[in-house]
This record gives sequence, C-alpha cells and structure tokens, in this order.
Amino acid sequence: MTEPFIDPWAPDAYEQWQARVKDKKRNGEVCICGHSVKYHKAASTGGQVFCVPGRTVCECRTPRTALIVSDLRQFMQKTEGTGALHALGKGIATGKRKGVTMTPILTACDDCHRETAEGFPVAPAPIDSTGRITDVTTQWNLLLCRDCGAKRG
Ligand SMILES: [Zn+2]
Ligand SMILES: [Zn+2]
Ligand SMILES: [Zn+2]
Repeated sequence: MTEPFIDPWAPDAYEQWQARVKDKKRNGEVCICGHSVKYHKAASTGGQVFCVPGRTVCECRTPRTALIVSDLRQFMQKTEGTGALHALGKGIATGKRKGVTMTPILTACDDCHRETAEGFPVAPAPIDSTGRITDVTTQWNLLLCRDCGAKRG
C-alpha cells in the first residue's frame, strides 16, 4: 500500500490514514461465532461485550477471529447447530457459493490442537455451560475435529 500525500498543514493526517487502514483490515474479520468481529460492541456500562449481527441474536461475548473474508454480508446468519447449521458454517457455505475470498486464521481443533492441514477437518460448535455441544447460540463456540466433537456430544 502506498502512503498518501500528507498535508503539512494537517499534522494528524498520517495518524488518520493509519487508523483507516487498521479499520479496513478489521472489517474483514469473522469471529468464530460466525459474525463480524466489529459487531462485538462493548456496552457502555461494565465493558461487557455483545455480538449484535443485524436482526439475529448471538450470545458471543469474546470475539476470536476465525477467518478474514472479502465480503462480510454472508456472515449474518443464525446458529442452529454444529458445522453446516452453525452461523460460521452457513456463512462459509454461502460465501463459497458467492465467490467470497476467505483466509482461515484458526486452523486447528480447539481441544486436541491437531491441524486441518494434517487431515483433521474442524467444524464450529456452540458449547453450553457444562461443556457439551448444543444446538442454540451460546457464549462459547469451539472449532472441533470429529473425535473431539464426539466426546463433547
Ligand atoms: Zn463472536
Ligand atoms: Zn456472533
Ligand atoms: Zn480434536
């Protein structure tokens, strides 16, 4: 990226430009819950973070970047289970159909840490407060390989 001409009369121009670049990068980040990281807003009181993707409800409170994508519009869906029924799985499926460029950031199982590149595909799963897989949105989402998913099922 080339630096813009900096107006010597606007001493904060460089900082503003840097902030814009940072912002643009952030715009492509998808949380493991299946929604844009920027939807996770800290409430004015208590600093509690909530994910607010459009009109759907998501309980995610701790954004963790799973993917960087070229188009976030496919990532506003609802979690109704694991894998293809999870908001992240749905977003990836429609993103693929629409030619969205997706770069995985999380590439390993959260439980056993085996890498997808080593032949252990992972799927997103909502986890309830007892650590078991559920089929509704919760505060906790994990990427699990088939073996670890079975243990938490
Ligand atoms: Zn989230
Ligand atoms: Zn979310
Ligand atoms: Zn695993």
